[in-house]
Amino acid sequence: MANLSASRYKRSDKLGEGTYATVFKGEDTQTGAIVALKDIHYDPEEGTPSTAVREIALMKELRHENIVRLLHVEQTENNLVMVFEFMDKDLKKYMDTMGAPGTGALSPMTIRQFLYHLLQGLAFCHDRRVLHRDLKPQNLLISANGVLKLADFGLARSTGIPVTTFSNEVVTLWYRAPDVLLGSKNYDTTIDMWSVGCIFAEMYTGRPLFPGNNVDDQINRIFRVLGTPTVTSWPLMAELPNVQGKTFTPHQPVRLQEVLPMMDPLALDLLSRLLRYEPSMRMKAKDALSHPYFNELLAQQSNYNVYFPGTALPSNLNGFF
Ligand code: ADP
Ligand code: MG
Repeated sequence: MANLSASRYKRSDKLGEGTYATVFKGEDTQTGAIVALKDIHYDPEEGTPSTAVREIALMKELRHENIVRLLHVEQTENNLVMVFEFMDKDLKKYMDTMGAPGTGALSPMTIRQFLYHLLQGLAFCHDRRVLHRDLKPQNLLISANGVLKLADFGLARSTGIPVTTFSNEVVTLWYRAPDVLLGSKNYDTTIDMWSVGCIFAEMYTGRPLFPGNNVDDQINRIFRVLGTPTVTSWPLMAELPNVQGKTFTPHQPVRLQEVLPMMDPLALDLLSRLLRYEPSMRMKAKDALSHPYFNELLAQQSNYNVYFPGTALPSNLNGFF
């Protein structure tokens, strides 16, 4: 951590504002490089906020092509700035500006590529027992050459740390797994896989899949599509804290194909493996990368030698060729 009195970075446009930071575009006056400056809001009396400390500690370790790179941390007397590689826009903005007019839906080829990048970054995190916990389009960044990278590890944590010390209240509801909505405290990497499913569907429609207004509404929206879970479909549900003494309106599952008619059969198959009630049944990031849905992408990369920026040689290529 450099302790400088004057900033090395010249800031320009505001890029975004989140829960605990404001992000600006900036220029490194020493190198001329364009960067993103994440200004952490905090009261000097209270010291550095724990979210920032956690994010910095994690980001230093997480070096991967599909994870936004933390370049530097600058601390002045009453200011903490995280300096990141500059990314063109977040996925939400990308859908709004590059997606289909009116809806923001992306093309199947773009979705396949973005999902592959997302899963590669996530597999890397999960391998290191790091959960992101706040995956949503605003926290996925797209570079000017079309590479998707995970960002905003402010709520991320290592699975090794006890989960009771941290409340999950600020995690966006729309992408939250049903086990977490129902009060589960001992969740793991599977919660991120639920969010991946929600984001996957959203890229096809440009609209969030389950845009709940509160926890009950969120649960109901999920139940109305996937069906209200039963003792047979989700035996362990009965043990969750917020299920005790509650009755849920029974809903029959709707065929995903009817909800998302624009998704092809392989995409729907992958989606159905991500949106599973039982957390242990949700597909893992590493396994999802080998799903036949990606065959077309991998075939194009190898047969026609098309260069997909940021997509390292797929680790599962051996299984297919
Ligand atoms: P918060 O923790 O406050 O949500 P984020 O890290 O998610 O902060 O940043 C807020 C927003 O700023 C993002 O949604 C994105 O639009 C923009 N942003 C963040 N990092 C970058 C970056 N490296 N390059 C470009 N824009 C960024
Ligand atoms: Mg954010």
